[in-house]
Amino acid sequence: MKKLDGKKVAQKIKNNLKLELNEIKNQTNKTPHLIVFQYGKDKASKKYAQRIKKNCKEFGIGFDYKQIIAEPNKFKLSLEKANENDNISSIMVQQPLPKNLEHYLELINPQKDIEGITSNSLGKLLLGLDTLIPATAEACLEILNYYQIKLSGKRAVVLGRSNIVGKPVSILLQQENATVTMCHSKTNNLEWELKNADIVIVAIGQAEIIKAEMLSENSIIIDVGTNFINGKLLGDVDFKSAANKVKMITPVPGGVGTVTNQVLMRNIVKSFKKLNNIK
Ligand code: NDP
Repeated sequence: MKKLDGKKVAQKIKNNLKLELNEIKNQTNKTPHLIVFQYGKDKASKKYAQRIKKNCKEFGIGFDYKQIIAEPNKFKLSLEKANENDNISSIMVQQPLPKNLEHYLELINPQKDIEGITSNSLGKLLLGLDTLIPATAEACLEILNYYQIKLSGKRAVVLGRSNIVGKPVSILLQQENATVTMCHSKTNNLEWELKNADIVIVAIGQAEIIKAEMLSENSIIIDVGTNFINGKLLGDVDFKSAANKVKMITPVPGGVGTVTNQVLMRNIVKSFKKLNNIK
């Protein structure tokens, strides 16, 4: 088994990004600026926002955080203001939102939509047009590319069909000419699908539910899962048993999540460049 180390991939993206940001600063004398919105009191979301703040600081990217507890109208107005504010180049809204407020995500200016979650961004991704792509989906492809894993003609199984991971990653894999099967909670004979895959992307959100016996020794496994169990971060794949069997696998932590953090930073830079017409 070969461990697919996300830290190496993340470091490469980080190095390139620092060079790019220097160039931008020299050219424009401006820096990108992100605002993160949190609706409600979820502690994990707040913690995640703090991590993004730290990452932004490292790159010299401006950062604002706005928490709104229970005022839908204020939330809507703040989002609209952020869209109009030329000093803010990137907008992120922490999820999940209450069901009745989910439609507010559509208010985000697609050019500032660094998570690639608006229908505009996802529609462009589907059509193969230039757009901001959900960072986690792109992180999976970054890892596969970094380790020069051939995708063309390969059988890829994506486990999970969320808008933020499963669907976009399946589109990206198809664009690389993989033959993609999307699986979910209603899939019959999941084990057969998994055993016959060259590449498996697992994004279901259930700690260590995918065991070694469900996987093939010929498979390459990308584990997107992040599950906090008794203070420990676990993937969706039982790493200990699977690592002894499969061809290659990403660890959790130190895999997809690590790369996602840097891809998100890269999306902040991309959105800034789009807004400022920088090639
Ligand atoms: P969602 O809950 O939105 O979607 C989960 C998907 O998994 C659904 O499509 C669901 O099927 C499917 N599913 C659930 N249980 C099973 C099962 N037993 N067998 C087959 N399919 C199943 O999750 P997300 O996509 O948002 O996140 C998935 C995981 O990835 C989570 O652990 C999350 O924390 C992690 N994550 C990690 C990120 C990173 O950067 N590392 C970023 C984003 C997420 P159905 O549609 O039928 O309900």
